[in-house]
Amino acid sequence: MPFYSYAHVTENPDCERSPEFEIDQPARDLPLTVCPWCGTPVERLLGTPGIKKRLFDCELRDRGFTKLVRVDDGLFENKTRRPGEEKYVDRRKPETFPKLEKTVRD
Ligand SMILES: [Zn+2]
Repeated sequence: MPFYSYAHVTENPDCERSPEFEIDQPARDLPLTVCPWCGTPVERLLGTPGIKKRLFDCELRDRGFTKLVRVDDGLFENKTRRPGEEKYVDRRKPETFPKLEKTVRD
């Protein structure tokens, strides 16, 4: 299914989605006019009705990417954890950082 990019017309700090977000939508559907999460007006961003393929975390890892998702202040979950790496990366603890030398070795 294609997905489209939208932006809140007025940034809503209470919305659980970021100011700009993407949503799966059948091509025949009319553009959204309000955010499905917070109900404030949104506008569709032009260009790239994406047939971008989303990569699973394991595919990202296989391609040499590292994906960190923020879970708390200074704390990130390593979604592409490789053997020997910590599940959580703490900004204050360098020993929890992804092991780049493993990634770039091959
Ligand atoms: Zn919203």
